[in-house]
Parts: sequence; C-alpha cells; structure tokens
Amino acid sequence: MSCKKENIQNVKNIKVGKPKWLRRGLPSGPEYEKLRSLLKKSDLTTVCQEAQCPNQFECYSKGTATFMIMGDRCTRNCGFCAVDHKPKGLPDVDEAERVAKAVELLKLRYAVITSVTRDDIEDGGASCFVDVIRAIRNTNPKTLIEVLIPDLGGNWNALQTILDAKPDVLNHNIETVARLYPSVRSGADYNRTLELLAEVKKRTPQIPTKTGMMVGLGETVEELHATWTDLRKISCDILTVGQYLQPTAHHLPVERFVSPEEFAELEKQALAMRFSGVAAGPFVRSSYEAEKLYRKAR
Ligand code: SF4
Repeated sequence: MSCKKENIQNVKNIKVGKPKWLRRGLPSGPEYEKLRSLLKKSDLTTVCQEAQCPNQFECYSKGTATFMIMGDRCTRNCGFCAVDHKPKGLPDVDEAERVAKAVELLKLRYAVITSVTRDDIEDGGASCFVDVIRAIRNTNPKTLIEVLIPDLGGNWNALQTILDAKPDVLNHNIETVARLYPSVRSGADYNRTLELLAEVKKRTPQIPTKTGMMVGLGETVEELHATWTDLRKISCDILTVGQYLQPTAHHLPVERFVSPEEFAELEKQALAMRFSGVAAGPFVRSSYEAEKLYRKAR
C-alpha cells in the first residue's frame, strides 16, 4: 500500500495449502452488526470491512478503524493488491466531512486514514489528506490520527502539506524487500520509500514514522534484516509485519506461510534493532494495535 485492501478471505490458487493458524472466522454478532449499520448510515466503508479483515472487531472495540479516501480505484497496479485500477473522476468534495462524522459516530480514539495512489492528481491527493485531518480535528479533537500515505511520486512539497496538518503518525508501507520490488510493487521504488520516511523525520522529528511489510512473497530472513537496517538508519519508529495472502488467482502466489512461532522470532529480532514498536504475526496488518504502537513511540 499505500493502501492495499489486504484481502484475507479470498485466498485462491495458492502454492501451498492454507495452514490451520490462518483459519479464523469473520466477525459477526449484534455488536458487529451495530457497527456495520452505523458505517452504512455515513455512506462510508472502512478498509477493515472492504478487506473482510478478521481483526476488525478487535480494532473497533479498541476504538480504531481505517478509512480509505479518494475512491476505490488506483493509478497503480501492485502484484499483491486487490484494488481496482483507473480512477474515475476526482475525489468527492464532502468526503472529509463524512469521514469526520463516522469517526464521531464510532467514537474512535484512533483513526487511520489511507488512500489509493492517485498519480493523476497534481499533489497526489495530499490536500485530501489535509482536509480529512482538519475535519476530524474540528469535530473529534481528542482522536489520534494516523495517515498511511502513498509515495506521492516523490513530491516532497506535497508531503510537507500533509506534515503541516500535524498527523499524529505518518505511515508509509515499504511492503517488501528491495529485490522483490519489480514484481510486487512495480510502480514504486524502494529508495523513494526510504527517502519519504527519511524526509518526514528530517522535517518533523516529533511525528513518529511507521512502515509495514508482508512476508511470504519469497524474501529471505537476511533480506528482511537488511530492510530493517535500512529503516533504522533513517530512524523509522514503528514496524508491522504480516503474512501475504493472495487475493485472487491473478495476483502473486504465496511462496510460504510463516508460522506464528517464526513471527514471534521476527518480532524479537526487529525489537532488538531498536524499533520503538513492532507488531509481527500472521494477521498483523498496517493498523493492528495501532494506538498501542503509537504510545510506545511517543
Ligand atoms: S498503490 Fe498498489 S497497494 Fe496501493 S492501492 Fe494502488 S495498487 Fe494497491
């Protein structure tokens, strides 16, 4: 991602069978239905719902949800991502207000705002992020706001626009190791991702930086360590690591399912590299335990 719909349920055509630790039911029940209907009323969907994320009830109950802005079509075409392509038209003008309303209705303590990549918009959609941050601050001044942004095509003026709106956390996902970028994230650039996170630290050292990766795409442990070394060189604060799952048969296959024990070991190794907060596990996604990780970085 910026912003992938991390499709968890529709795993098809995988090279190896889905292991038992990944078999987990979707949330349901009256409390969940209440939340669903609240969101429906605001005419908004969360990434949590769209991706049928099994963590969503856990996140909602901790007062966290993730909203995707600027539509549901992307100008890029990453090999792991189920989002449609070719955006139709400009983002809705009332989107920021609708997100702020949903944050209020859900009484969120922590809102994650993400987007598709919009290379077709001059500032990459930076001003849309700013509008949403301001609208949430107006109506929900206590809500913490994390922005999970695209790479903005390397436009650091656009990045500065977002930083000026003072999000509480700036997240940009590195997704995978450098060697796999051509197949996994062909429209992006490993060094540009590092540069973006470095620019945030340089310009606003008080804002924690965060990034997320998928494993199971063919990377080696040595390559993961090399990526984390690169991230720590630019003082990236928070890291999330989760299992890649193939959204449809047309997407990249899963090369390997990483066991919960291996994830626990990876988390330990990343923490030893002095990230302030790390979450690693089969179901970990960008927003998992977001408030807890933020508090560790403060
Ligand atoms: S940039 Fe890539 S990961 Fe993000 S929404 Fe577009 S296709 Fe998906």
